[in-house]
Amino acid sequence: MAQTARQKPVFRFAPSPNGFLHLGHALSALINQAMARETQGRLLLRIEDIDQTRCKPEFEAEILSDLAWIGFHAEPQLRRQSGHLADYREALDRLDALGLIYPSFLTRGEIKARVEAAEAAGESWPRDPDGAPIYPRDDLDRPPGERRRLLDSGLRHALRLDMKKAISLVGGPLTFVETGDGARGVVTADPEAWGDVILSRSDAPSSYHLSVVVDDAAQGVTHVVRGLDLFHATSVHRLLQQLLDLPEPRYHHHRLILGPDGRKLSKSAASTGLAALRAAGHSPSDIRLMLGL
Ligand code: GLU
Repeated sequence: MAQTARQKPVFRFAPSPNGFLHLGHALSALINQAMARETQGRLLLRIEDIDQTRCKPEFEAEILSDLAWIGFHAEPQLRRQSGHLADYREALDRLDALGLIYPSFLTRGEIKARVEAAEAAGESWPRDPDGAPIYPRDDLDRPPGERRRLLDSGLRHALRLDMKKAISLVGGPLTFVETGDGARGVVTADPEAWGDVILSRSDAPSSYHLSVVVDDAAQGVTHVVRGLDLFHATSVHRLLQQLLDLPEPRYHHHRLILGPDGRKLSKSAASTGLAALRAAGHSPSDIRLMLGL
């Protein structure tokens, strides 16, 4: 019996309480639920509130109420990232012990200035899959004494993954199994496309990438089902899983709901917010129709 329970597929829906849920979240929650039902799997809810500067309890309360309204029913025990900071710290320490972490001091404004100067000089600056400039690796060239002095001076900094070193440590090719609406089958991961990603900041003790892999492993998640906007992030997640000896889930990245402007929905767009649609008199079945379910 115990063995059967262990082998059950485990799904999770993992919203961030930094705004209200919209139709895109409803699609993700309902696809997770449908897949969990089809496979007689477990369905978990995780509140990704690691960024305490943007997450608010009011948003969480509204998220829970909207999810219940659309008929999403996960196991009652939910995991909140803010309650597991020690887990992320431990993972960060492991990466640090492997020599893969370094403090980065350039501010957003400084990075922007660097990119603009390079582009004005006719150079093209590499961008990550989300379109943000790749972080310049100058901090790695700082002599240890200077690095120490900057840290001791209390200058704000982030901890970044030395991507090149991390990739060479892993050695062989990294892949993931994808069953969703994008490329199906075994996909080659390309974490290098992201450059030296942030793993921790002064105002958020762990980054999205680090917390998500730690949480998925801690919760025994076997199937990660989320929007196609996170497809490329999976490359970073696979690398971190490999470095931290964490199990590899299967991935299913589903279609996105786009707004009338053809862009991904945003949490601030009131017209597609679940609470607003509910207040305007729509029913949960209307929501399913709007989602094409
Ligand atoms: N918390 C993320 C979001 O709300 C989702 C993370 C995930 O599913 O991996 O976009």
